[in-house]
Amino acid sequence: MIIDDRKRFGIRECPSCACEVPANNNHCPICGYAFPHPSPARRAMKIWGALLMLGLLLWLLLGGC
Ligand SMILES: [Zn+2]
Repeated sequence: MIIDDRKRFGIRECPSCACEVPANNNHCPICGYAFPHPSPARRAMKIWGALLMLGLLLWLLLGGC
C-alpha cells in the first residue's frame, strides 16, 4: 500500500496557474497567488446549518405539527 503524500498533507490546486500547492502553504510558490483563508463565520454557518437540519429531522421524527 502506497501512502500518497499529497493525500496525507493535503494539496490544493492553484486557481491562477493550476499547479499543485501544499495545503499548509498559503501562497502559490510558482505565481504567488494567495489562497483565501476559510473564514470562521463560514464555518459557523455550516455548523448552524447542520444543527438546523438535525433539529428539523428530529421534529419530523417526533411527529411534527
Ligand atoms: Zn500559482
